[in-house]
Amino acid sequence: MTHDVTLIPGDGIGPEIAAAMEEVVAATGVDVRWRRERAGAQVYEGCGTPLPDSVLEAVAETKVAIKGPTATPVGSGFRSINVALRRAFDLYACVRPCLSMPGDGSRYRDVDLVVVRENTEDLYAGVEFEAGTPEAGHIIASVNERTPGAIRPSSAISVKPISPEGSERIVRYAFEYALSRGRRRVCCVHKANIMKATDGLFMHVAERVAEDYPDIAFECRIVDACCMGLVCDPADFDVLVLPNLYGDIVSDLCAGLIGGLGLAPGANIGSECAIFEATHGSAPDIAGKDMANPTALILSAAMMLDHLGEPGAADAVRDAVREVLAEGTSVTADICRALTDSAEGAVGCAAYGHAV
Ligand code: ATP
Ligand code: MG
Repeated sequence: MTHDVTLIPGDGIGPEIAAAMEEVVAATGVDVRWRRERAGAQVYEGCGTPLPDSVLEAVAETKVAIKGPTATPVGSGFRSINVALRRAFDLYACVRPCLSMPGDGSRYRDVDLVVVRENTEDLYAGVEFEAGTPEAGHIIASVNERTPGAIRPSSAISVKPISPEGSERIVRYAFEYALSRGRRRVCCVHKANIMKATDGLFMHVAERVAEDYPDIAFECRIVDACCMGLVCDPADFDVLVLPNLYGDIVSDLCAGLIGGLGLAPGANIGSECAIFEATHGSAPDIAGKDMANPTALILSAAMMLDHLGEPGAADAVRDAVREVLAEGTSVTADICRALTDSAEGAVGCAAYGHAV
């Protein structure tokens, strides 16, 4: 069966890691017909928008997409292309599995946890205001997405929307995910002791939803204590479910537990469409140097193959990554440095992809 998939290589290291990912997917023998679309800073000049309609049309048609990181030009009318895509397709669940692999260069072993991040609400709503003077006592201007350049209000307010519907569907997603993959525990992460209305709502909804899943253990942790727990004993965690902003931060923390951003895959899932993408950004500091680690995008492709109903190919990709890392002779500079403090002997992005 042929699978139509939209491929957005993206900016920075995007094209390099996308090429490596394509070679790996081709090697599985699964028949993927790529529909290539350009988005990000690279098309902004020519198209006047970093997110042309053709990209939205392609994703709407293929229902499945994989993308490299995109940079969002300032003043382009977008706060973030990723946020815009997640909104456009209501990709409410961001799923980021973090699994230790031998040779990953991490100081931790036996990490096997999944971050389930709410993707549509919270401080990411991007509703921010310049506040009035204390005398005026009211909001005087809204900072909209067309505001060019840096925004430097003298005093500012950001809005944090959390709804019962938005909370329930992400928590339910986390429990269903746990159930379908034989996982045993779900941990709701919050700061309800301080943000009683918003995080309190998220936590209370989670407690209620948990009652529908008596076979899955449930606990709540305050985000700061949870971070400490993660760095002290990450093997103690299973499925984490978090509001958007904590999810963003804890995702990068968890990437650090398994060898860094170069290794952490992800998926943005909605009821209609899914977009697979690595946790990391466009890494402009190493772009165009054949130095990036494409593993995160390759493992995102494995998640995509699972989603497409090709679990054999998905496992083959994961096994190949595991083997190449364990062997340790064809690994990228980030991994080399983590293992030996030097990038000597590292291979490039393309050579690593080829090895996988
Ligand atoms: P964003 O705002 O999009 O999350 P960011 O500012 O957090 O972006 P990243 O682009 O994720 O930044 O990069 C953070 C650091 O990690 C950079 O030093 C970058 O070189 C490194 N990095 C990110 N991805 C990779 C990768 N795939 N391989 C090697 N190094 C990477
Ligand atoms: Mg980041």
